[in-house]
Amino acid sequence: MSADRRKPVLVIGLGRFGGAVSRTLERMGHEVLAVDCDAELVQEFAPDLTKVVEADATDEAVLERLGVADFGSAVVAIGTDIEASVLSVLALADLGLTNIWAKATNDKHARILERTGATHVVFPEQRMGERTAHLINERLLDF
Ligand code: ATP
Repeated sequence: MSADRRKPVLVIGLGRFGGAVSRTLERMGHEVLAVDCDAELVQEFAPDLTKVVEADATDEAVLERLGVADFGSAVVAIGTDIEASVLSVLALADLGLTNIWAKATNDKHARILERTGATHVVFPEQRMGERTAHLINERLLDF
């Protein structure tokens, strides 16, 4: 197991995407620290994750207090609020994280994330749409 695999993973945003990423990583044996500004979501996820914190992830001082510089990887799972998404990536990059995954909602959002410090940009809805089309295609070929 590499050193990075043993480090906890930071997940910012516990919407449908961030929630699924967090719970799946925990099931796989990783420690997950999740941050969301929504108190109800924080309560909902608290039993399932190593640590869940209610905070504004665009605030670099808050992230610094959480010790995120020591984390192996971070996932910024904010999509709709592009400003919050970009500012969170910027804060993490400024704190020295070098493995930052971020969710993008469109190409321009993706380009901004890359320039701001994201090392991996993902498009979950687009990828899932492509995957579903492949599954439908396979089923149709079976008949
Ligand atoms: P989904 O994954 O459900 O499709 P989405 O792409 O619509 O989500 P948002 O709803 O914008 O993304 O954000 C996802 C989560 O991030 C929400 O639970 C929201 O409360 C949280 N969030 C948004 N801004 C911040 C912030 N500044 N700090 C912490 N959490 C935030």
